Amino acid sequence: MSMFEDIPVDVGVIYEGERIRRKEMQVELGGPSLKEKFELAKVKPMNEVEDGKITIIGPDIKDMEEGKAYPLGILVEAAGSTLEEALEGVIERRIHGYLNFIEGFMHLNQRYDIWIRLGKKAYQKGLNSFTYIGKVLYKLFKSELPIIEKVQITFITDPAKIQGLYSEALQIYEARDAKARGLKDEEVDKFYGCVLCQSFAPSHVCVITPQRYSNCGAISWFDGRASAQIDPKGPVFAIEKGELVDAEKGEYSGVNETVKKRTLGDVEQVWLYTAFDHPHTSCGCFEAVAFYIPEVEGFGLVNRGFKGVTVNGLPFSTLADSTAGGRQIDGFHGMSIEYMRSNKFLAADDGWNRVVWLPKEVKERVKDFIPAEMVDKIATEEDAQNIDDLKAFLNSKDHPVLARWTEEAAEEAATEITAEEGAMMPVATAGTLPIMAGGFKIILKDAKIYAKKVIIRSMKDEKKS
Ligand code: SF4
Repeated sequence: MSMFEDIPVDVGVIYEGERIRRKEMQVELGGPSLKEKFELAKVKPMNEVEDGKITIIGPDIKDMEEGKAYPLGILVEAAGSTLEEALEGVIERRIHGYLNFIEGFMHLNQRYDIWIRLGKKAYQKGLNSFTYIGKVLYKLFKSELPIIEKVQITFITDPAKIQGLYSEALQIYEARDAKARGLKDEEVDKFYGCVLCQSFAPSHVCVITPQRYSNCGAISWFDGRASAQIDPKGPVFAIEKGELVDAEKGEYSGVNETVKKRTLGDVEQVWLYTAFDHPHTSCGCFEAVAFYIPEVEGFGLVNRGFKGVTVNGLPFSTLADSTAGGRQIDGFHGMSIEYMRSNKFLAADDGWNRVVWLPKEVKERVKDFIPAEMVDKIATEEDAQNIDDLKAFLNSKDHPVLARWTEEAAEEAATEITAEEGAMMPVATAGTLPIMAGGFKIILKDAKIYAKKVIIRSMKDEKKS
């Protein structure tokens, strides 16, 4: 007898990674169009949790209009005689995994960024109430994490009620992150790995170190340790650091071996503190992207919540597509906001001295962790909206990247190949030419690519300089 026989759709790992497109969706919960959304786990005393209780505050799914987006808060309150507050982050991250087991239900991201879609087919099969969603969560929490003895789940869709809890949730996330700061990568002998997102990006492994928070921003090194202890067969596991191969780039033999094994050989080498050559892979849950801007030899940063286009004319979604999918793409780097607060933040690429642009909101959030002399030298959307603006801004502020420009200009002059006026010359021909984009591999057969002008730049020199 299935443990989910009272649920109108199937529940199982085969549904992980299922995508629900806009035209297939019954409703959207949270997501980019709404500010107030969250999921939060809290550990409570035994007498404050009623085991199995599911509460809905506000309209239920069946009361929602087809095709619309609604705010949502998910509150999981757990109790257990050996359950500690330190496990809240671990419990909370399981919401993502468990909800994705539900047929026709897609859960993306974490914390204050959740984005959920319910498919029309699942709705038509009867999945029309949060009660079912709550039952699935309840059963999975109890069966997968026996340390949880009681759990109650609340779904909040009433915007007025979400508001207060949302602010409280933000404070709790910040307090959790602050607790995890201070410990250094050199001071531990184990890192932690997470493969929860392999259903979406099979060649992705998050390597969670004290100074490199998980890409989703939901799992600190402490959470990783707690998770591996309470559920050793779960998605989070210990990584023996092994030999330190390169201190500057953050390369460890144990990390390489584990990532190679867990990606079935797809990724063989990981450099933790750089966006070049062998960067840490990115799944799709990252909170922000660092993107290299060759025109100024610096990095832009953009977070998922940024609504406009970045300084290079691309929105977060396009940059995220270029970054995601478990690949190692030179100059594109998925990360958490908390990693920006780390001393190891892109350390091998010159850290904050290399950052030239970021949204104002993110700057405010991480301001105290940007070296004081750099704060005013980094542009936001208010200072620069295109590359020309950005160059002028950086010049006026004497940004450290300026030192790299002279060298670059000389190199470019030496390697520019320009076609005769009006003519186009083939610059690449290939029997098969694979292009990776947005999680797909596009293969061009017998391709010939023409260009008016070709600029050849050495990425290695750019990185070094
Ligand atoms: S982003 Fe990384 S740490 Fe977060 S759930 Fe996915 S794999 Fe795990």
